[in-house]
Amino acid sequence: MNLSDHRIGEPTDDPPDSSGAPRDIRDLLLDDLEAAVASAGERPYRARQIAHWLWQKGVDSFDAMRDLPAALRIELSERFTLAATEVSAVRRSSDGTRKLLLRLGDGEEIETVIIPSEDRTTLCLSSQAGCAMGCEFCATARMGLHRNLTTAEIAGQIFAARRELKPDERLTNYVFMGMGEPLANYPRLIRTLTAMTAPWGMGISPRRITVSTVGLVPMMEKLLAEIPVNLAVSLHATTDELRDRLAPINQRYPLKELFDACRRLPLKSRSRITFEYVMLAGVNDSVDDARRLVKLLAPQRAKVNLIFFNPFAESILERSPRSAVEAFQAILHRGNLTATIRESRGLDIAAACGQLYAEHHEQEVSARKNAAAEAGTAGQD
Ligand code: SAH
Repeated sequence: MNLSDHRIGEPTDDPPDSSGAPRDIRDLLLDDLEAAVASAGERPYRARQIAHWLWQKGVDSFDAMRDLPAALRIELSERFTLAATEVSAVRRSSDGTRKLLLRLGDGEEIETVIIPSEDRTTLCLSSQAGCAMGCEFCATARMGLHRNLTTAEIAGQIFAARRELKPDERLTNYVFMGMGEPLANYPRLIRTLTAMTAPWGMGISPRRITVSTVGLVPMMEKLLAEIPVNLAVSLHATTDELRDRLAPINQRYPLKELFDACRRLPLKSRSRITFEYVMLAGVNDSVDDARRLVKLLAPQRAKVNLIFFNPFAESILERSPRSAVEAFQAILHRGNLTATIRESRGLDIAAACGQLYAEHHEQEVSARKNAAAEAGTAGQD
């Protein structure tokens, strides 16, 4: 194989690993598919046919692409992989929430959650296996970052979720609020969003997609310049001192920088940034916190989403009582802020970010903790 062959079909910003092993065909966008069919000696329109099978029909074999010539199907199957994502566990909550634990090719596991409500069915997507952001209240943070997900792996969650839907159910909204920091996996996030929103792809309106970030400032600006999705910023604190602790990325991008960036964002008319705020008893739920939040958000096109903390085994933090959350909300309302309370969903199935994974890997996690504790003690000697 010569060098130019090797490049065919390889997206420029998403290089394959150096092993030259076949890659999942859902890592390829339309341009890449066009290059791949050209190199197979086929006409360009074949790329759109393939994209239709991949992104509209959600097939999991090349044989299913019935309108392609057999030779092309064989060639594609030699160069690329295409397989349904393996579901290793499903939890079904009494409130209709379903949480899927998915096993990736290398054994990594990620979570995807289907959340039905009255007027919509939302899919909560993971962007990384684990997370490097280290937020104190988050179960995924305990894993550390294992690796970025590929485009095919991020999108694979949608097809796995679709197979779990009831006949009359349809996914209407997509939120990147699962495991990982989506903006820390930027090139693959953009490629996935492109395939999700493009007419040749899934054709989903960007208005139905929300990317939630802990506040990676430079990437926030880039994202909205590229694709006009909704943005949610995980705020959780009104002082740098507290946010440094709850969301350590604040040490790199402190509140002033974060809010300056938010004001500059190219928001579409009438659209607003959602600020997420996990309510932690005695930590960030006081009247003073609420008043500070009103002041901080006054210059922003903002709405607030107050979130009940979902406790998990290893956390010493506690959820704020409903009365405190409602009092907090009332102060925001009086300050002219739109503020909603996100009811906990799937509490009976460990649905908070990273929790199901943690349950499945309890031994592994506790072994790592013990090792870390030992290393810590050794360091103090
Ligand atoms: N890294 C991104 C997306 C993943 S977290 C971000 O930080 O936004 C998605 C949302 O889930 C965040 O608002 C986060 O604060 C919230 N979350 C994480 N752990 C939680 C828990 N134990 N209880 C309630 N909400 C939690």
